[in-house]
Amino acid sequence: MISKLSKSLCPMCGGKKELSTTTFSIDYGDGIIIIRNVKAEICVQCGEEWIDDKTADELEKIAGKARSKKLQLEVVAM
Ligand SMILES: [Zn+2]
Repeated sequence: MISKLSKSLCPMCGGKKELSTTTFSIDYGDGIIIIRNVKAEICVQCGEEWIDDKTADELEKIAGKARSKKLQLEVVAM
């Protein structure tokens, strides 16, 4: 339906994406980790968020560390 899908536009609604920061929460079963100040591209129209591969890797590392500490709740900032 869309012939010129630009990387800079939201694939959900076609809105503009802007670089910003967001808060992620990951439920890993034994507890929850909240990661603040995560770099993300956020659609100004529908609020959909994207993170790049490097950021995703970092999130995984942080979540793994929290899991190994067996904390019920961990709040960190990137
Ligand atoms: Zn959108």
